Amino acid sequence: MSKVLQGAGGAAGLALGPAFHWRRAAVTVDPPGETTEMTLARFRKAQHQAAARLRALAERQRAAGLREADLFDAQALLVEDDTLTDGVTALVLEGQSLTAAIQTVVAQMQAVLADLDDPYLRERAADMAAVGVELLRVLAGDSSPAPIPPGAIVLADDLTPAETVDLPNHVAGFATAGGGPTGHTIILARARGVPAVVGLGESILHVSDGSLLLIDGDAATVLIDPDDADVQVAQERMATLHAARHRQAALRDQPGRLRDGRPVALWANIGRPAEARLAREHGAEGIGLFRTEFLFLDRDAPPDEEEQYAAYRAVIAELPDCPIVIRTLDIGGDKPLPYLPLVPEANPFLGVRGLRVCMQRPDLLQTQLRALLRAAAHGDIWIMLPMVATLADLVWAREQLRQAAQELASAGIDHRPDPPLGVMIETPAAAVMADQLAREAAFFSIGSNDLAQYTLAVDRGHPALAARYQASDPAVWRMMDLAVRAAQQAGIPIGICGELGGDPAAAPALVGLGLNELSMSPALIPAVKERLAQITWAEAQEAAARALGR
Ligand code: PEP
Ligand code: MG
Repeated sequence: MSKVLQGAGGAAGLALGPAFHWRRAAVTVDPPGETTEMTLARFRKAQHQAAARLRALAERQRAAGLREADLFDAQALLVEDDTLTDGVTALVLEGQSLTAAIQTVVAQMQAVLADLDDPYLRERAADMAAVGVELLRVLAGDSSPAPIPPGAIVLADDLTPAETVDLPNHVAGFATAGGGPTGHTIILARARGVPAVVGLGESILHVSDGSLLLIDGDAATVLIDPDDADVQVAQERMATLHAARHRQAALRDQPGRLRDGRPVALWANIGRPAEARLAREHGAEGIGLFRTEFLFLDRDAPPDEEEQYAAYRAVIAELPDCPIVIRTLDIGGDKPLPYLPLVPEANPFLGVRGLRVCMQRPDLLQTQLRALLRAAAHGDIWIMLPMVATLADLVWAREQLRQAAQELASAGIDHRPDPPLGVMIETPAAAVMADQLAREAAFFSIGSNDLAQYTLAVDRGHPALAARYQASDPAVWRMMDLAVRAAQQAGIPIGICGELGGDPAAAPALVGLGLNELSMSPALIPAVKERLAQITWAEAQEAAARALGR
């Protein structure tokens, strides 16, 4: 008998496959009293073990006639690469923990590979990330989880954003007990185009390994043990989706525009430099939001200036002539940092979050701004501030930027001192005071996820209130309208980078409202582009008037 579970939110698409219970690898710390030599010996042993495991995986895949075999072979070579060995050795000798040293060198090598002209070598950037995960998994020893079989549907209590990003490409989809409709896990699943359902409750954890599951990301449901008729309907829908993807792929190299030719910039949201390639592949004409906090999550120390600089350069390398909007660290709320314990708060979304964290720790912001200003000398970087609520917030951040530029100039370090500095419109205060902010900001980008939660007074991750959390509510649109009018008055560009920006059904009204740019998960760009090409400017304006409830 099949059984349906309803989740709180999903990432679009259907997936059919066997259930696989995912387990988190234990984080390793260097054993107390271990000498540097012992740490390095442990590292070399882990390299050999990881390479052997990857080669065995390649053999298994080859025997099963699966094409991932070559991928694991390539990773087995990378795991014992001299650059990795030398880099990690040097950092361990400088006193870094083995885990931190591996994470740093892997990130640097990833950035370098992503920068290369040769497409084959560029592909190795993603493998490098997998190599890092593999090494840390081996170091975790017996507690290391089994590899996820290709085509499986991953089940977990919850996945962190980094864990979501690190799921191998061969998973068919995932389903979690926890999580809400606009949590960062589901946002990242959308970015990758992976069908997923979150907020299913404990029952999903009782499904046995290997049971057949049908995930419907649009309906946010999981069907356990579907019968033949269910499977047939699902396969027909998958074929229709496939055909739509094929049709939309034909528009890939066309710029975003309405039927009557009016241009609309379609940009991508990313959380990791490696996703910039995904953005390019889906036809993004820029990056409208790089959520840099993902560089800071799931590690034991913040990334230093060099690592951040390499990450920003890697994005520029992927989209060299495009605007790249990089948001400064936005943590707190649903994104805590293990090495920066924040005082427990009754209302984290109303607490020390986003720019407010940087006000408490200006050193973190200074490091990031230095890396950004240096990278801005090589590409069209725009710096964006999260959680701005007052003009004073923007003025404070601008002073921080001036300070970072001055220090780089005194040290004779190459940088661009004055990249555009813009703000997210994601608090009602910013929307209402947008006329003031517009006189001081270089651009606006609407963060509709937060703007909706703060305007409607509904926690964006609350499973029981999901029906009340609607970015399509006219109250949210009237807030957005205030920001658009202010931006137009001041002559600055305004876009949107919240989830609403990737909804094909909302796209006409967003353009009709006056937004110049829509930024979304890369996988959503083709569908939004197709929708916009079907409508005229007059129709877009009518859609906006309806959305405003006027
Ligand atoms: C938003 O709030 O709409 C946004 C884009 O930021 P985040 O989802 O990262 O909070
Ligand atoms: Mg936000």
